Order: sequence, then structure tokens, then C-alpha cells
Amino acid sequence: MARMLRRVAVVGAGAAGLCAARHILSRPNTFTHPAVFELSDNVGGTWCYEERVGTHDNGRPVHSSMYRDLRTNLPKEVMMFPDFPFDPELGSFLPHQEVRKYLLRYCESHGIRPHIRFNTVVENVKPVAVAAGDGGETTMWEVTSSESPGCRKTETFDSVFVCVGHYSNPHIPNIPGIQNFKGKVLHSHSYRFAEPFSGQSVVVLGAKASGLDISCELAKVGAEVTLSHRAPRLSVPLPTGIRQSSTVVAIEDDGRIRFQDGSVAGADVLLFCTGYNFSFPFLDANRLGLDIQDHSVSPLYHFLFPPAFPSLIFIGICKLICPFPNFNCQVQFALAVLDGSVTLPPRSQMEDEVLREQQEKLQRGVKQRHLLVLQHTQWDYCQMLARTAGFAPLPAVVCSLYEEVWRQRRIHPQNYRRLNYRLMTLQENVKTRASDIT
Ligand code: FAD
Repeated sequence: MARMLRRVAVVGAGAAGLCAARHILSRPNTFTHPAVFELSDNVGGTWCYEERVGTHDNGRPVHSSMYRDLRTNLPKEVMMFPDFPFDPELGSFLPHQEVRKYLLRYCESHGIRPHIRFNTVVENVKPVAVAAGDGGETTMWEVTSSESPGCRKTETFDSVFVCVGHYSNPHIPNIPGIQNFKGKVLHSHSYRFAEPFSGQSVVVLGAKASGLDISCELAKVGAEVTLSHRAPRLSVPLPTGIRQSSTVVAIEDDGRIRFQDGSVAGADVLLFCTGYNFSFPFLDANRLGLDIQDHSVSPLYHFLFPPAFPSLIFIGICKLICPFPNFNCQVQFALAVLDGSVTLPPRSQMEDEVLREQQEKLQRGVKQRHLLVLQHTQWDYCQMLARTAGFAPLPAVVCSLYEEVWRQRRIHPQNYRRLNYRLMTLQENVKTRASDIT
């Protein structure tokens, strides 16, 4: 008897959704063409720069947090999907426009575009129990989408890939007295370029990738920047015009800012570079047995599957990773589960494993809000996915080069992107050692 092809829905046509669609399309004996839902009229998600901030004319919030002069913080040699290189003519660290072009090329080369439903927002994804051939029950997914308000459609799928990103919903910490601040308050999600801040005093909260990058941009146009963060004082050379301070603890009645070290200062702008919250408005977390908080989604077995409903698959949920290679591994693993070549343990075992891993991390001092941070453990994680599902592991050079770039970023936050040729050389060097590392 011919096997039924499985129908898969993919929510989002950013890098993760495109990657999912590409691998689904490459398995025509197992899956029908995917239905890719994309709320905008573009592919690329985060990499579609929009000067507009806030909401579109149709009331939809602006998704991308890209700023005008952003250059990648990873070199193209590690950032790429392992089977799809960037243009060899380009340098290592790219302006965001080049990443968008790359994703467009990926989309066209793999014939994904005809399967994308643009301007279509997924409003609801819910599990439904249906009778299985063996007399038991199986879970299917009802996906309700709307092309224009009021024009809704509900379709049924065997599985849903959630690929909606997690850099769109600004996280703003609670600062007592914030309503007293008399200047401008914004989040990096709505920062586009530095010129409007020229000559202003700006307190930037947070010194991770965006906080540091944006501070450097602001200092270049003559803003007076206070980089306020809880990490130990950065010992790296920062551009003139940036001074470091402890965290902001409150806004005084007179609108001045009080810092943790007791100092108080005025400012024209408070710029939150404090990260983003997870948000899946189309999912009912309770029903799925998930706890979705600002910074965590749990339990997810292998950071992919809710144990109670493992045919719902989250791609790209981890933080501090090399995104495209990570998505590529996650998608291939998930498809191996869906096509039956990998069998997941029973629900209770998956739940226990996730809980045990989380408890181990918490005991090691990892904060609750960092439970999805992989950083150095991302390589073992990707290796494990590849080994279990039997696909090619990431080349060892990706790990070596990524770790080297992180080292350079810490030492030269302003200049590490100039290391183009040195990195290329390093890649060659590391390649020769690759067999030692694996
Ligand atoms: P997204 O790119 O956010 O795509 C999600 C898509 O889902 C969007 O197109 C959105 O419109 C769509 N969508 C959302 N909700 C719905 C819905 N309900 N219905 C239908 N469609 C929906 N990564 C790097 O590798 N290198 C870098 O240098 C780098 N720099 C970055 C700089 C900034 C400022 C930011 C914010 C991120 C950066 N990243 C970088 C990380 C980047 O987010 C990932 O590389 C990657 O693009 C994430 O892809 P994604 O598909 O998971 O999410």
C-alpha cells in the first residue's frame, strides 16, 4: 500500500522557515510540498531592514530589529548554511543587505517561493485528536491563518514547524519611576540609525551584541554614551564618548537616573538594549503543556519538541548560537523524527530528561532566564543531533572559527570585523587541524 505523504506547515519565512522548507522539499517521498505562512510580503525575516518603526499601515507590528548600518557579527564562513556558501567575492563580515540577498538566493535555488503564502498571518495552531488507522488516536494540527482581516482559513496538517524568530518583542525591565523620565525612551528594536542622537546624552542599558554595537554607532556621531550594564567592567578599549556605569536602578522624581553605585545623572535618551521576549500568540501554551515565559519555553525535548505534542516543532529557539548552521541541524533532526528514522522516547522520559538537564544547569549557577543559552555547548548539541539522525555533522572549522571570532570580539569590540583576511587564513589553518578536533 502506498504510504501517505505527510503535510507540514511552516510558520515564518525567515532563515529558519526557509531552512525547514528546503529540507522538506528535498524529501518528496515522505512529505507533500510545505505550506509556508509568512505575515509580511518578503522572505528573510529579521534581515528585511525596515526604516519604519512601530506598526505598519495595516496595524501589524514591524517585525525586524535590523538597524541601517548593521554588519554581521559572525563571518560569512561560519554564518552560512553549511551546504550553501555566501558569494565568495564578499568579505567576511557583511552588511545586512547581503544576508538578505543570500536568503533570497537560498529561497530561489531551492524552489521555495511558490510554497510561501505571503501577507498571511497564522492566528491559531491547535492540536486535534483524530482516529488513526490502528484504532488508536493521532494528533493533527489545525492551522488558522488570515490573508486579510476577516478572511480566515483553517487547514489541517500532520506537523507544524514554528519558525517565527525571537527578536521582535522587546523586553523592557521594570525600572521603578520610569514614568518620571523626561527624555526619550526606546528599545533597540526601534533603533535604526545614530544621526538623530548626535550631541545627546544617551544611557544605553545592556552591553551585549546590540548594546555595544549601537553605543559605538552613537559615539561616532558625537553622542555622549553611558553604557550601563551588570557584567563586570569591560576591560576592552571603547571609543571616546562611551563611559561605562553600573545598572540603572530607578528614575528619581525629578527625572534623573539613579545607578546601582549610588550616582545620579540626567540624560536625553534611555535606550534599552535588553533583549527580547518569546511570543507565540497563536499557541495555547497550557493546552500544549508548555510554560512560555519572557526568556524561556519549557519543556522542549532537545530544544525542539514539546513532549506532550512532539509533532509541533520549534526551530531556532536557543540563544547564543551560530544560527543558520544550528537551524540546519535542528530541521534535519526533526524531519528524521517525522519520517520515522529516529524514534523519540515516551513523553514522561522526555519530560524527565528536560527537567534533569535544567536542574543540572540551575545547580551550576545558570540563571533561569539563561536556560536556553547554548554558547559553547552548541557544538556538542549539533553533533548529537547529527549522530542520532545520521546526517553530516557541522565541519569542525565552523566551531573553531566561531570561537575565535568570539575571542576577538571580546578583545576588539570595535575592530574585530576588520579581521577579514586573518580569519580567512585562520580558516585554512584550522582546516588542517580539523581531523584532530573531531
Ligand atoms: P526571523 O528572521 O525573525 O523570521 C521569522 C519570520 O516569521 C518573519 O519573517 C516573520 O514575519 C514571520 N512570522 C512571525 N510570526 C508569524 C505569524 N504569526 N504568521 C506568519 N508569519 C509569522 N545572526 C547571525 O547569524 N549573524 C548576525 O550577525 C546576526 N545579527 C543579528 C542582529 C540583530 C539586530 C538581530 C535582531 C539578530 C541577528 N542575528 C544574527 C540573529 C538572527 O535573528 C538569525 O540569524 C535569524 O535570522 C533568525 O531567523 P528566524 O527565521 O528564526 O527568525
